[in-house]
Order: sequence, then structure tokens, then C-alpha cells
Amino acid sequence: MYKIALLAGDGIGPEIIKEALNVLDAISESSPSFQYEVEEALIGGIAIDETGIALPKETVELCRGSDAVLLGAVGGPKWDNTDPGGVRPEQGLLGIRKELELFANLRPVKIFDALIDSSTLKPEYLHGVDVMVVRELTGGIYFGERKRIGDRAFDTCDYTFSEIERLLRIGFDLARKRGKKVHSVDKANVLESSRLWREAAVKVHEDYKDIELNHMLVDNCAMQLIRNPAQFDVIATGNMFGDILSDEASMLTGSLGMLASASLGSSGVSLYEPSHGSAPDIAGQNQANPLATIMSVSLMLRYSFDLMDEADRIDNAIEEVLNNRFRTADIMEDGATRLSTTEMGKKIVDTLKTDR
Ligand code: NAD
Repeated sequence: MYKIALLAGDGIGPEIIKEALNVLDAISESSPSFQYEVEEALIGGIAIDETGIALPKETVELCRGSDAVLLGAVGGPKWDNTDPGGVRPEQGLLGIRKELELFANLRPVKIFDALIDSSTLKPEYLHGVDVMVVRELTGGIYFGERKRIGDRAFDTCDYTFSEIERLLRIGFDLARKRGKKVHSVDKANVLESSRLWREAAVKVHEDYKDIELNHMLVDNCAMQLIRNPAQFDVIATGNMFGDILSDEASMLTGSLGMLASASLGSSGVSLYEPSHGSAPDIAGQNQANPLATIMSVSLMLRYSFDLMDEADRIDNAIEEVLNNRFRTADIMEDGATRLSTTEMGKKIVDTLKTDR
């Protein structure tokens, strides 16, 4: 019996999480290998309302004692403030990443043929695009020493060999199950930390001789993602480069409502969430696209529970529903049938019930 900690959060969080749970139910009904229980806890704005802080101790304890965490989204105008010592919903998100030592963030960018016209790029460049950006999440320039001295300021990019190595191993392991290609992205022509990154990539590659390793400078990578995105399989990179490249890559799909993410760490408990926020502008209207969260559940089955067939079933159901031209408002197009959040969730569940 797998134990899943459920952190629905704010805004559209509870609406999209509900649909993802219905999908998990449908999978467990038809798959004896996947039985699960969920326990809910507070995070973000709702946690501030009820407890005064964004990440209560009970939430951390529940997550630590679970096999995986499913998160909706946090934040909203109600809790916005610029007070430097203020309590903010995002503290919940950063806090749980730190508590679970989630050092690798995975963002799959897969283009569904049915949605190819939503992208700002020409369709001929997008067919077959299936990129996994693996970003280091707990080190590098976002965590190095920083200071302001008079009219000067500096931030330090600091990595140890082992921090780089553990991230790259995740990248190579993923590539082994995918397209067998890793692009290790750095700025080794300028930065010492990047030269260490490249050395680590060469060393780790000795254990993965079946995988093609390419070193690519980050500026070139930013350009290549637009010029020829289909050349990439796994992109493994540091914190800041990954932050920028994963946002760039995610926009190849043209839709925020379609992007899932997984954060893996050394605690053994991984966290799965959609890449988008709490969308306060549409919260409570049964309009949100639940597919990014449903895809996050598919990532959970794949990476936390090693249930590849079950994950494939979810991905195939999403593809089928999109091919049959069912759409939520954010991905609506002429001639398609518009569905609400609950209707889209039900469509995926109904498709899963007829796939075997
Ligand atoms: P957002 O991602 O919430 O929304 C941006 C736009 O995309 C909005 O128009 C929204 O309606 C739309 N959108 C987002 N997800 C959608 C979905 N599933 N279906 C349909 N449309 C969708 O980003 P924002 O507006 O910049 O931020 C809103 C709040 O969310 C802020 O408080 C922000 O701090 C927070 N946020 C949280 C996370 C997270 O929890 N991981 C990430 C980003 C932003």
C-alpha cells in the first residue's frame, strides 16, 4: 500500500488535485500492483490562514513519512505582501523542497501532436519533441554566498563535485529509459564551477557508456532549443541555467496547463506538481486544465513506484482525449469540444476504463 501525502494548496489547487485523485482511483481499480492511501495536509495560503505559517510541522512530518507527495499550487492575492519579514505562501514551497532535500527537478516537455498549433513555433520543428530538463535545485548561484558592499554586489556560484555528480546520475539514468542521449549544459569557457561540472559529466559518463554525452554551452543550448528542439533527449544542468532553460523549453508546448514536474531528492520522498501556479483568476470556476496535474501523477507512478505500464496508460489516455478534440478553455481551438475541469477529469477516467 503506497502512502501519498496530498497538499492541495490554494486557488485551483484543490480542483485539479481532485481530478488527479480520480485518475489514481481508476488506475488502482484496474491494477493490483497499485494500491494507495492518501492523507491531506496544509501548505501555502490556506496553511497561513489556519496556522499562521506556510509550512506547518505536521505537513513536513506527513511528507517525510509518505512514499510520495502530490502538490497542487500555492499563493494568491489574498496573501501577497512585500514585507521582508512577512509570511508568504511560497515559503511553503521552498520549505518543503529544502526539508525533503529535493535536489533534482525534472520537467518533461512533450509535444502532443493534437496541440502542435498552440505553440508559437512552426509545427515542422515540433513533431517528435520530447525533452526532459533535469535542473539542479538546491545548489549553485541561488544558494552561494552573496553580499552587497557599498555600490557593489556579488552572488557566488558554488558547487561540489558530489552535488554535480548526483544530479548527472539522475540525468543519465533517465536517458537510459528514454532516448539514450544527455546534453550536459554549462558555461565551461568562462566559469570555473562549469569546468568542474564538465569534469563530473565526463567521470559519470564512464558508468554510462551506452548513453551519448554531449557538452553544450548554455547560450548555444538556449538557441538550439528554438532552432531544433527535437535534437534533445535529456538536458542536465545547474540551478540557474536550468531555471531559465526549463521555462524556455516549457513554452515550446504553448500551454502552461499541460506541464508537469517532479522533484527528486536524497530523502527518498519525491514531490510531484504541475508547473503552473494557483491561477487565482479562474479559481473556483471549474475551468482549470487538470492535465498537468494528471501528468504529474503519471510521473509519480513512473519515478516513485516504477509502474511504467500504469504511467503509460495515463499518458495514452491524455493523448487519446486530445486527439478526440476535447479541450479545456486554455487550449480551446475551433471545432473542438470545450470541457470543464471536472468533465476533462472524467473524460480521462472514462478513457482509462475502456483501454483494456
Ligand atoms: P499562474 O501559473 O497561476 O497563472 C498564469 C496564467 O495561466 C493565468 O492566466 C492562469 O489562469 C493560467 N493558468 C495557470 N494554470 C492553469 C491551468 N491549469 N488551467 C488553465 N489556465 C491556467 O501564475 P501567476 O498568475 O503568475 O501566479 C498566481 C499565483 O500562483 C501567485 O500567487 C504565484 O506566486 C503562485 N505560483 C505558484 C506556483 C506553485 O505553486 N508551484 C508556481 C507559480 C506561481
